[in-house]
Amino acid sequence: LLCVKGLRMGYGPVEVLKGMDIEMKPGERVVLIGPSGSGKSTLLRVMMGLEQIQHGQITFGGDPYITADKGKTKIDIGVRKKIGMVFQHYTLFPHLSVLGNLILAPCKVAGESRSSASERARALLERLGLSHRVDAYPAQLSGGQKQRVAIARALMLDPKLMLFDEVTSALDPELVAEVEQVILQLAAQNMPMMIVTHDMWFAKNIASRVIFAAEGRIIEDGPPEQVLGNPREERTREFLERVF
Ligand code: ATP
Ligand code: MG
Repeated sequence: LLCVKGLRMGYGPVEVLKGMDIEMKPGERVVLIGPSGSGKSTLLRVMMGLEQIQHGQITFGGDPYITADKGKTKIDIGVRKKIGMVFQHYTLFPHLSVLGNLILAPCKVAGESRSSASERARALLERLGLSHRVDAYPAQLSGGQKQRVAIARALMLDPKLMLFDEVTSALDPELVAEVEQVILQLAAQNMPMMIVTHDMWFAKNIASRVIFAAEGRIIEDGPPEQVLGNPREERTREFLERVF
């Protein structure tokens, strides 16, 4: 499904991703863990075409869409659009209602009619238990509701892969579960995903595979029972003892 090859990227002279290779199969749910600064968010941002890379290539469904080429990063937007992402901090447009947030990109970018996008948006919000908030503005929503709307907005573009970067880290503890439930619901529908999380319960419940990265390199990569339960690498072990 997704193939990252020889990926290197840095900000100026500081190398952040020091040669990463990942091959993701359809239906896989990869949980990415690692110490702060290891490059997890950077990797996800690269996959979304939001960063310049210095070396390597990323393909999706066999199509190269991010390629380092003589110091420039070439991005195939058509392919990139098949990937959706939700960030730690809600990135809803504050001046638009929930419905407005959901239909903006489908109407403006994809050229869908307002009525068709609205119909899809309402159905999606219904599924996520948010029907009663259709006309609310982001400021009127709880943190958990905002994140669920952010997920719904990403789903409106019919992604074939979803990336989640610590989507519950900024939430009050009692709001975490409702957002994780939505992601688990997507998992049950076989949505491929890559998830950065510090929530051990969630990691164990959602992952079909766990990657531990440190200092811009993949240290360990395998099934959750192995990487979380019985890591081969000392660094993974130390990290898990410290964090969980
Ligand atoms: P965390 O768990 O804290 O979210 P992370 O694994 O997501 O950490 P990244 O945010 O990817 O780590 O950062 C990796 C490295 O890149 C860090 O050393 C960070 O300081 C650096 N970095 C991130 N963004 C920038 C930027 N815009 N300019 C310069 N350096 C950056
Ligand atoms: Mg991060």
